[in-house]
Amino acid sequence: MAKYSVPKNGAKIGYQNGKLTVPDNPIIPFFPGDGTGPDIWKATKVVLDAAVEKAYKGKRKIAWMEVFAGLTALQHYDKDTVLPEETVASFKEYRVGLKGPLTTPAGSFKFVCLVCAAELMDRPASCPKCKSEWITPRFRSVNVGLRQKLDLYACVRPVRWFKGVPCPVKAPEKLDIVIFRENTEDIYAGIEFEQGTKECREVYDFITQKMGKKVPFPDSGLGIKPISKTGSQRLIRMAIAYAIAHQKPSVTIVHKGNIQKFTEGAFRDWGYEVAKTEFRDRIVTEAELWDQHGGKMPAGKVLIKDRIADQTFQQLLLRPDEYSVLATTNLNGDYLSDAAVAQVGGLGIGPGANIGDGVAIFEATHGTAPKYTGKDMVNPGSLILSGVMMLEHLGWQEAADLVVKGLEATIQAKTVTYDFERQMTGATKLKCSEFGAAIVKNMGSVAVAA
Ligand code: NAP
Repeated sequence: MAKYSVPKNGAKIGYQNGKLTVPDNPIIPFFPGDGTGPDIWKATKVVLDAAVEKAYKGKRKIAWMEVFAGLTALQHYDKDTVLPEETVASFKEYRVGLKGPLTTPAGSFKFVCLVCAAELMDRPASCPKCKSEWITPRFRSVNVGLRQKLDLYACVRPVRWFKGVPCPVKAPEKLDIVIFRENTEDIYAGIEFEQGTKECREVYDFITQKMGKKVPFPDSGLGIKPISKTGSQRLIRMAIAYAIAHQKPSVTIVHKGNIQKFTEGAFRDWGYEVAKTEFRDRIVTEAELWDQHGGKMPAGKVLIKDRIADQTFQQLLLRPDEYSVLATTNLNGDYLSDAAVAQVGGLGIGPGANIGDGVAIFEATHGTAPKYTGKDMVNPGSLILSGVMMLEHLGWQEAADLVVKGLEATIQAKTVTYDFERQMTGATKLKCSEFGAAIVKNMGSVAVAA
């Protein structure tokens, strides 16, 4: 018997021929997450429900279904289960989900408090820092677990500026990109050998003696970076298909192939291969642009180009309007997504999604911000905009547009949460819940025949 209850007023989203079939009352599994997750979730739900109601006048409604992960899983399942199998199964079955941030232990400690993220060497009855009883043994990232178990191979991050958001660059409006980051392989595959162990020594001997490679120092920890043709091509295929569907001008393959030829360099080569073999009549490569079109982009085509990863960081700062969709490997994408979103105002407002074939989970991109737990204080913008991505994924564009309209108007009125307020002059500081309510108030409405 499942620990979550399926809403009676909802219906399952279907999937046929690579496309979702969305009922008017789709069941959407969600969990608010740890730390400040419940605060941002409450504000987000209010905003998304209001937008759907205003856009479709009751004809459409999301049937939210709470499932459990992180702290709430400990409360509903046995004491050490942070990612129950039935939570994974629910996302698979219902196909589209929304999630808040989760605590992820990072260091060499043994236990972690899921409320304040305190890292502990032993297991006290309650957390010495926040007094909560929700302490669990160190575990692997639940986020990574979800991505791997559901094969959510693309981490998708749209990055654009919202007028009025304080940010560190002079012309933030010039950056409007969508980053497709490969989500399953690269150094995140977790194939690492700890320095000093027997396994590490064996791998070291294999590399140096059998394969004839030089490792600079024998006291090295070792890691393996798998990059496959399958993993690279399905990610780049999704990025190109997205660019075509959304009439974006270009897809840039970002890699470090000048140094890592058989992993990052191969990623680039496999990218061009998939572009030329599967999208031949819809794309032009940068070389073809100059060789065959005199540098003038033919109408209706997507430009496929590639850039070295370190140069891309410079380019996004110096020539941001030359970039649109980016497709990259896991580690490059990790750095690049956070750097790009900082350019337009920070993680508090950056949305994200993890997408596979027929399953997608939309999520806040920041962490649990534990020092603000229960204070109704943090910016719910990231989860709200992830909800916008989710509405677009469902094909509910009118509701998505209303949320963006409400958010823009709220920021431009300088009624914002603490993180923006401290960087703006003359702004009014709102609580997390008040910010959500202000977005609803500023949405207006549209009459739409759905
Ligand atoms: P964090 O939770 O993202 O918070 C770092 C700082 O970023 C906060 O102290 C706050 O800055 C600012 N911030 C984050 N979210 C905000 C929001 N919604 N509104 C306004 N400001 C916000 O990073 P962390 O402290 O490194 O990580 C805490 C826990 O979250 C860790 O266990 C980590 O592993 C986990 N994490 C989870 C995810 C995920 O689930 N996707 C992602 C990243 C980290 P100020 O203090 O300056 O106000």
